[in-house]
Amino acid sequence: MLNKVLVFGEIRDGEFRNVAFESLAAAKQIAPDGEIVGVVAGEEVQAEGKKLFHYGADRVTAVEHTNLAHFTPEGYTQALKAAIDAEAPDAVIMGHTALGRDLSAKLAGRLNAGLVSDAVAIEMKDGPVFTRPIYSGKAFEQVTVKDGLLMATIRPNNIPALEADMGREGEVASLDAEIENLQTVIKNGVKNTATGIDLSEASVIVAGGRGLKGEEHFKMLDELADVLGGAVGASRGACDAEYCDYALQIGQTGKVVTPDLYIAVGLSGAIQHVAGMSNSKVIVAINKDPEAEIFQIADYGIVGDLFDIVPKLKEEFKKV
Ligand code: FAD
Repeated sequence: MLNKVLVFGEIRDGEFRNVAFESLAAAKQIAPDGEIVGVVAGEEVQAEGKKLFHYGADRVTAVEHTNLAHFTPEGYTQALKAAIDAEAPDAVIMGHTALGRDLSAKLAGRLNAGLVSDAVAIEMKDGPVFTRPIYSGKAFEQVTVKDGLLMATIRPNNIPALEADMGREGEVASLDAEIENLQTVIKNGVKNTATGIDLSEASVIVAGGRGLKGEEHFKMLDELADVLGGAVGASRGACDAEYCDYALQIGQTGKVVTPDLYIAVGLSGAIQHVAGMSNSKVIVAINKDPEAEIFQIADYGIVGDLFDIVPKLKEEFKKV
C-alpha cells in the first residue's frame, strides 16, 4: 500500500501544464487513501502552486531559487531530490513531457528508483500496474515496480484530471535547497506552435505533410487550428522540406500525441509518423491519393485536394 505520493507539477511560462493535474489524478489512483504532496520548482512559483490543491493535492511544497528560473536537468534534479529527501514518499509521479523525461531519468538514476515511463493507464492489482506503449505504439506492456521508490511519468491527455474543487485550498510550504553546479542556459524556451497551444497537450491537432508544398501554405493549417482551438503539427517530410520547424514534428523521432481529434493533411501516413499519433481518439485524413496509408488508420477520410478542402473546412467550422 502506498502511503504517500509526491507529484511534480510542471510549470511552463508561469502556468501549470495540464499534465500536472493529470499526475495528481494518477497519484489518487495509486494511493486512494494516501497523502498526495504536490511539489513545484522555479524562481517564484508559490502563487501558481496553490492550484494543485484544487486538483487533489493534500499539501504543496515549493522549491524556489534564482537558479531554478529556467529548467536545467541538474538544477531541477537537485530541487526534486531535496523534496524527496524531506518527504520520503513511496512514489513520485510527473508528466511525460520533454522536461519530465529528462528529469525523471536523471532523478531515478540518482535515487536508484524503478522508473515506469510514458504510462497511459493504471490498474490496481497487488500494487499499481502501469500500461505503456511499446514498439512505436503497436503493442502495450504492463509494468510494475516491486521494490524501493516507484517513479512514473504519465503521457499527457490519457489519465483525466479530477474536476477542480475551488473550495480546496491551502498554504504552499517553502523548502530551502542548495541548487548549484549548473551549466549555463543558452536557450530559455521555444514556442512550439503558431497558436501557442502545446502540441503534446492539445486536444485538437491539424498536422501537415509534404503535400502542403511550401512553408507559406502552413498558414492555412494555422487558421484551421485556430478556429478549432488546436495546435499545428507536421510530418518529418514537411520538416525536412523546411515548410516548418522540427519542433512540430510528430512521430517516432518527434512528439507522441494523443489528441481527441487529429486532422492529417497531405501526409502519407508512414509508419514512423503513425507511431506518434495512432492513439488519437478520432483521426481525419485529407489526401488526394485514395491508396495513401493514412486512410488505413483514419476514422474519417476525405479524398481530394487539400487546397480545396482545408479552406472549406475552416469556413464550415467557423459557423459552428
Ligand atoms: P509524403 O510521404 O511525400 O506524403 C505526402 C502526401 O501528400 C502523399 O500521400 C500525397 O498523396 C499527399 N498530397 C500531395 N499533394 C496533395 C494535395 N494537393 N492534396 C491532398 N494530398 C496531397 N516521419 C514522421 O512524420 N515523423 C517521424 O518521427 C519520422 N521518423 C523517422 C525515423 C526514421 C528512422 C526514418 C527512416 C524515417 C522517419 N520519418 C518520420 C519519415 C517517414 O518515413 C516519411 O518519410 C515521412 O513521414 C513522409 O512525410 P509526408 O507524409 O509528409 O510526405
